[in-house]
Amino acid sequence: MDKYIDLFVMTYIGYANYLWKTIKEPFLEGDFNFFYFVIVISLVVWGLELIIPWRKDQKAFRKDFWLDTFYMFFNFFIFNLLLYIALSSVTVELLNNLLAPLGYQGGHLIDLSNLHWGIQLFLFFIIADFVQWCVHILLHRIPFLWKIHKVHHSVKEMGFAAHMRYHFGETFVYNSIKYISLSMIFGFQLEMAFIVYTIAITIGHLNHANLGWDYGPLRYILNNPKMHIWHHSKALPKEHPYGMNYGISLSIWDYIFRTNYIPHDGRDIELGFHDDENYASGFFEQLIAPFRKEK
Ligand SMILES: [Zn+2]
Ligand SMILES: [Zn+2]
Repeated sequence: MDKYIDLFVMTYIGYANYLWKTIKEPFLEGDFNFFYFVIVISLVVWGLELIIPWRKDQKAFRKDFWLDTFYMFFNFFIFNLLLYIALSSVTVELLNNLLAPLGYQGGHLIDLSNLHWGIQLFLFFIIADFVQWCVHILLHRIPFLWKIHKVHHSVKEMGFAAHMRYHFGETFVYNSIKYISLSMIFGFQLEMAFIVYTIAITIGHLNHANLGWDYGPLRYILNNPKMHIWHHSKALPKEHPYGMNYGISLSIWDYIFRTNYIPHDGRDIELGFHDDENYASGFFEQLIAPFRKEK
């Protein structure tokens, strides 16, 4: 046990050092700086919202702009911390020890780690997105998970940063399932998660942006602002009582499994969920909201 405690402490110290280096040195040689990437992509998408807005009367600093900006950095660091922990030898060893009684001896069910990195990346992206699409449905269907996911659906006015408004519990739900499926079943190298994350952040920012885009025929493959806004619709149609358009980066799963729904241009639809007038409004209130009894 002492061994694990020591290693965990080392992991956190390692993470703190890594974080500090990332912020201090924007142009670290040989390393892609994800922290500054998030800032640059946010500024680019925000700039687009200001130049060619979909809802022309939406303010540059829309409702909850700063709350969502805070969420963006908070959740970015939580994701990184989790990944950092997952990559550490402690976690690998701990998981192997925990699963050993079940007959797990390390290794993977299907080993894709020898494929060309480009193919691995492509497969990682597709499989991870599908896994997330499934988890997203669970977030809407399982009552406690819905309470956690409500934070994301409390957005009343859309803008790029609304993408990152979610309870940190979601990071744990999504990533533990992704870790098991992608790393333990398929043997993907976890470092890929960093690269896929930058692609997902870019698409996710665009999905929530105040931009009237759907990418033409590519809309059946790529999720887009005109589709995702319906995912946030306050009113739910009879045929989709739990929600629709669950896609994260790709929209194709919704078209395949018939959870797609765009009845008309959703530019001005009301966003949120039933009774959201009484929902927690600040960061800390939203942090504890899932654990409070609902009236
Ligand atoms: Zn949702
Ligand atoms: Zn969303």
